[in-house]
Amino acid sequence: MDLLELRADFLRQEELSRAVELPRKTDLPVILTVRRPGEGGKWKGEERDRVQLLGKIGSAGFAFLDLEEDLEAPDLERRVLASGPRIIRSLHDTRGVPEDLTRRVSALARSPREIPKAAVTPRGALDLLRLLQVFQDLGPLQKVLLGMGDFGFPSRVLAPKLGSLFCYASPPRESAAPGHVDPQTLDELFRYHQIGPGTRVFGIIGNPVMQSLSPEIHNSGFAALGRDAVYIPFLVDELEPFFQVADSLGVHGLSVTVPYKEKVIPRLERQDPSVSAIGACNTMRRGTDGKWEGTNTDAPGFLAPLLSAFGGRLPPGLRATVIGAGGASRAVVHALAANGARVLVLNRTPSRAEQLAREFGVQAAPLDSGVKLMARFNDLIVQTTKVGMSPLSAEDPVPDYVFSGKEVAYDLVYVPRTTAFLKRALAAGCRVVRGDQMLLAQAFEQFRFFTGSDYPDEATRRLRIFSRYPA
Ligand code: NAP
Repeated sequence: MDLLELRADFLRQEELSRAVELPRKTDLPVILTVRRPGEGGKWKGEERDRVQLLGKIGSAGFAFLDLEEDLEAPDLERRVLASGPRIIRSLHDTRGVPEDLTRRVSALARSPREIPKAAVTPRGALDLLRLLQVFQDLGPLQKVLLGMGDFGFPSRVLAPKLGSLFCYASPPRESAAPGHVDPQTLDELFRYHQIGPGTRVFGIIGNPVMQSLSPEIHNSGFAALGRDAVYIPFLVDELEPFFQVADSLGVHGLSVTVPYKEKVIPRLERQDPSVSAIGACNTMRRGTDGKWEGTNTDAPGFLAPLLSAFGGRLPPGLRATVIGAGGASRAVVHALAANGARVLVLNRTPSRAEQLAREFGVQAAPLDSGVKLMARFNDLIVQTTKVGMSPLSAEDPVPDYVFSGKEVAYDLVYVPRTTAFLKRALAAGCRVVRGDQMLLAQAFEQFRFFTGSDYPDEATRRLRIFSRYPA
């Protein structure tokens, strides 16, 4: 159901008189809400004036009036109801998910014409799980039920699947409640109008995760293939309750990002050899028996653009420096060593480089003193640290290394597309590979793992994700 909500508590005094005009100016049903501060609203006046305002403009053609659970205003209800609007009887909790939410929502409606609504605030995966349980408890009851904030995001975007009449969105940059996205994002990025009870859910888990570019990649792919599927971010604080959330929603596939790539491995029933070789899993899907299968697409995603740069295969005896020894570096070092390259790993914390070197049979050195060794490992230089991305976007992890121009320089950082490290390499005449090429390649591998289909060319042509960021 598409509607407009007029949040009259956001209006200036001089704008209030024009509020009555809105229902006549739109074909959409309009909800009138004047929210109190304790429930996240901006109303600053007396409660008496608020009720008076609701009465004064509520009969001007609004389809719904949002009245709070504890509001006792029989005169207002009699007067306004005679003119037609239905009441949305709402309950808000900006601090958590109440223990007795099922009972309270069941008891909200004071007549069959009232629609019960609860907006609560999951503070973690366990709270989201409890909210999903309330959806199940309430079954087919006509209702609006939603979790605010980032932990509650799945409950809002999946409203049509879960059985909530609608969810809320806000104009860009004017969020009316924590975690709101704008209507265009909800519709175009998250395919809200295509979601229904049978929609298959995919997503990405991590912390942080809400700014991930993966939803745009995967949802564009689903749309181009006409799949009844949606891909959403799940902010996760604890894995155990999250996997119960995944069971409750029937989540079909997951991308996994920091800090969970290692921690999800014990949950895998079956895993690709790349997972144990790298020691990390970045992609999970349900097998036909409902159990989780895992793979790692970072290594093939790293290799795909590199192979293109080298004309289809890595030159025999390739000598490479890998800067960094974190999670991404593990996939890079594995991919290079497995393809016969001789690798030197440099890292700020030398013990991490040494550990990696032992595991993969390569060489290691500290980042500062090791720069002089790079001249012997410089067919390819791969930058895998966070240096070069915000807030370190002006920095270069190896400022003392002088490019000869014959190196291939590869930076895993994808925002900005051309880091300070790559700028120096380009200025010296090097060929470069950018992090966005790897990001797309590993996501396309994930898409194939999720769906069994290649990522559609049509979706690739339409992707706009990098145009929003600095080049
Ligand atoms: P991670 O596990 O946290 O590792 C971070 C690495 O960066 C470590 O080697 C760390 O060194 C180093 N580092 C951090 N700050 C530094 C500084 N100020 N100076 C020098 N070294 C520093 O992170 P990750 O998952 O490997 O990700 C690393 C980067 O790769 C991120 O920018 C991420 O966005 C990017 N990435 C891109 C893709 C893609 O598809 N393009 C995929 C995965 C990751 P210490 O060990 O000394 O802390």
